[in-house]
Amino acid sequence: MINVKKTFLPPFEEYISILKRAWDNEWITNNGELVRELEQHLKSYLNIKELFYCTNGTIVLQIALKSLEIQKQVITTPFSYVATVNAILWEGCKPVFVDINPDTFCIDADKIEAAITEDTEAILATHVYGLPCNIEKIEDVAAKYNLKVIYDAAHAFGCSYKGQSLLNYGDVSTCSFHATKLFHTVEGGCITTLNENLARKILLYRSFGHIGDDYYSGGINAKNSEFHAAMGLAVLPKVDSIIEERKGLTKIYDSLLPDGIERPSFKLKDFQYNYAYMPVVFQSEEQMFRVKRNLEAKDINTRRYFFPSLNKVPQTNALNSSCPISECISSRILCLPLYVGLKQNEIELIVDMVKKNLK
Ligand SMILES: *Cc1c(COP(=O)(O)O)cnc(C)c1O
Repeated sequence: MINVKKTFLPPFEEYISILKRAWDNEWITNNGELVRELEQHLKSYLNIKELFYCTNGTIVLQIALKSLEIQKQVITTPFSYVATVNAILWEGCKPVFVDINPDTFCIDADKIEAAITEDTEAILATHVYGLPCNIEKIEDVAAKYNLKVIYDAAHAFGCSYKGQSLLNYGDVSTCSFHATKLFHTVEGGCITTLNENLARKILLYRSFGHIGDDYYSGGINAKNSEFHAAMGLAVLPKVDSIIEERKGLTKIYDSLLPDGIERPSFKLKDFQYNYAYMPVVFQSEEQMFRVKRNLEAKDINTRRYFFPSLNKVPQTNALNSSCPISECISSRILCLPLYVGLKQNEIELIVDMVKKNLK
């Protein structure tokens, strides 16, 4: 079977030898040595000042909204994983969808201004597949209307723009380290900010609002364990070679894929990509289904990622939002298999199946 994703597993002995330190310390969670070490390594790998390792890429979105005191309307993208809009709803805020740019599949920054109301407090945008949003434009609009900016950078680990990690932009950025993501810690995520006051708040929110016997604020439990941090410490040194291998595989796909298949635009200036996904957009939903079905018959799994457009999930139905570009792309998109260990002949087989079913 060829799956759309295959979790990268480091050699078992490497994981165990790191984990052994937790046994030696007799310390398995609550900001242990491995968690602190992973945070240090992540900060230096990403060149980021304030980074907090957490349990997943969803709770960090909630902490982002909470720590920025967002309570009303949040302008967001309909083309993301459902966690993005769920976090907004879960925090009791109202999502306001702005349609996407047809080239990058990120929120169309030129359409944000028209969606701003008296109640707009923030923009929460996703760097889709690791492609950066129009950061300059979003910053301009946010400054003009005094809005906070949160980037869901769940896909953007290892991506940099203008010489900086994509996690270094916005008031807050978040990332997911779920097993399906480029860099993973089984489950996990992080939240980053350049603002020291905010960092203090986030630190407290991550673990119940107290440090030892000193109680400062409300909070939640979003701290991660030594078991998860050990996986991160084992995978992180491999990330550059993981990206390199994915780059090679992506090149093979790109050289073989036929005309008539759309790809989001990966050729931006000053941008370094992480090759996290292999999205392709077919000409029709029917064509997409035909390819998907026939690949599945050969035990090759693809994923409708992202589908549905988030203005069409039950929990946002009542908003009655229309996002024609997002709806149109999400109905036709598939992510093809891309992972470390995928073989050239497997890609050839996949592309052959795609070609055969285009007609
Ligand atoms: C994976 C993902 C999340 C959620 O991350 P978890 O770690 O699974 O909670 C949020 N946003 C986007 C865009 C994602 O792809």
